[in-house]
Amino acid sequence: MKYVSTRGTAPSLSFEEAMMTGLARDGGLYVPAEIPVMSPEDIAGLAGKSYEEIAFIVMRPFIGDAFTDEEFKAIIARAYEGFRHEARAPLVQLGPNHFLLELFHGPTLAFKDFAMQLIGQLFQASLMRANKRVTIVGATSGDTGSAAIEAFRGLSNVDVFILFPHGRVSDIQRKQMTTPEDANVHALAMDGDFDDCQARLKDMFNDFEFRDGVGLAGVNSINWARVLAQVVYYFSSAVSLGAPHREVSFTVPTGNFGDIFAGYIAKKMGLPVRELVIATNQNDILHRTLETGEYAKAETIPSMSPSMDIQVSSNFERALFDMYGRDGGAIAQLMEELKSGSFKISQGALEQLRETFTSGRASEEECADTIRDMERTTGEILCPHTAVAVKVAKEHLSDVPMITLSTAHPAKFPDAVIAACGHYPDLPPHMAEMADKPERVTRVPNDLDALKKLVHERRAR
Ligand SMILES: *Cc1c(COP(=O)(O)O)cnc(C)c1O
Repeated sequence: MKYVSTRGTAPSLSFEEAMMTGLARDGGLYVPAEIPVMSPEDIAGLAGKSYEEIAFIVMRPFIGDAFTDEEFKAIIARAYEGFRHEARAPLVQLGPNHFLLELFHGPTLAFKDFAMQLIGQLFQASLMRANKRVTIVGATSGDTGSAAIEAFRGLSNVDVFILFPHGRVSDIQRKQMTTPEDANVHALAMDGDFDDCQARLKDMFNDFEFRDGVGLAGVNSINWARVLAQVVYYFSSAVSLGAPHREVSFTVPTGNFGDIFAGYIAKKMGLPVRELVIATNQNDILHRTLETGEYAKAETIPSMSPSMDIQVSSNFERALFDMYGRDGGAIAQLMEELKSGSFKISQGALEQLRETFTSGRASEEECADTIRDMERTTGEILCPHTAVAVKVAKEHLSDVPMITLSTAHPAKFPDAVIAACGHYPDLPPHMAEMADKPERVTRVPNDLDALKKLVHERRAR
C-alpha cells in the first residue's frame, strides 16, 4: 500500500514512512493511493467479533508489509488493554433509532485514545526495530495532548512536546498534561489560541533542517495512522446495529475533521453509511462551507466544547483532495489562497461534498439545553462536544439507526455540566487522584525560534 500527498509533489511513502513523517514535505497530508474495499460478506463476517479482531481485519490492508500479522495483532492488543470497558466502544440507546457510541473508556477519557494508544505501540515497535529516536511535537486544543502523553510517556526512544493554548483548555485537560512525572514528557503552554499552536507546529515541520536535526515526528490528527485507527469503530458499531444488511447514519462532533474523515473512509471501504453529519459548535466554518461553498476563516470564539474551537480544519484537505478528483495541484492552489483568509470551492467539488456530507451547528445555549434535556429524559450526562452532536443528530433522524459519536467523558468538562444540570458529573477514581499532584509546565511565547531552542535544549540525546 502506497501513500500519496494531497498536494501532489512529495514522494509517495509506505505506511510506516507516512506514519513517521506526519505532514508531507510539500505541506500536504498523506492518503492511501487507493482505498481497499470490503464486500458485504466480509463485513457480515465481523459480526460477533471482539473490537481487537475487527481492528485487525479492517486495518490490515492499509499497513502493507510494515508488520507481520502476529506483530500487528500484538500491537492492537497492547493498544486497547488499558481501556476500562470490555467492548472498548460500547453503544447505548438515547431514543428511538438514536444511539450513542461511547468512545471515552480509554486512559484519558476521550476518543483520541483510540488512535493515540495504537500509534504509541506502532511507533515503539517501529523505532525499536530500527534502533532510532524521535521527538514528537503535537499541538492540542485539549484532548490530543493528554492522549499523546499517555501513549508515549516513559517510552525510551521518544521525547514528547505538547503545545496547548495557555488558558484555553479545561483544568482537567491541563492537569492530564502537566501531572505525568515521566522525564520524556514536556507540556508547553503557548500564548495564543489553538490555531496559533497549530501554525507554529506546521512551521517546525516546514523547517527541514530543524525537522531532520531533532528527528521530528508528528502525531496530530493529520497523521494517517490516527485516521486509520478511527475507522475501526465505525465498522464495529454499524455491524452491531445490523450492517451490512441495514444502513446506518453517523453524526460526529467535528473540529479538525479527523474523526468524520475516518467515517468517510469506512463508507468508501463499503460500509453502508447513509448520512455522515458534521456537527459544529459556534465555530462553524465547515457548516458554512457546505452551505455557501466558501471556506472562509473567521475569529475563533471560545466555547464550552474547546476541542472543536478551530477555524482551519486540517483534515478537510483530505476530503477536498477526493472532491477535486485527487488533483494535488488544485489543492495546493486552494491552500495558497487560504493564506489570505478564504477560498471558493468549485461547483463540481461542492456538489460532491454535499452528496457525501451533511452538517449542522449548535449554539452555546442549544448545547447546554441538550445536556440538561438528555439527563432528564435518558439519565445520560453528555460532555459538551457530544451534546453539540446530539442536538444536530436529532435534526437528521430517519428510518435508519443514527449513531452519534460520544467523544469525551462528561467529567472532563465539569463547568459545562454544572451550568446545565446544576451538579457535578461523577469523576472516575483514577481522575480524582490527579487533582492533588504537582504540575510541570513551561509557558512559551507564540514564536518559532523560541520553540525550536526549547526543543533542542530539553530533548534527551
Ligand atoms: C478532538 C475532539 C473532537 C473533534 O475531533 P476532530 O477529529 O478534530 O474533528 C471532538 N470532541 C472531542 C472531545 C475531542 O477531543
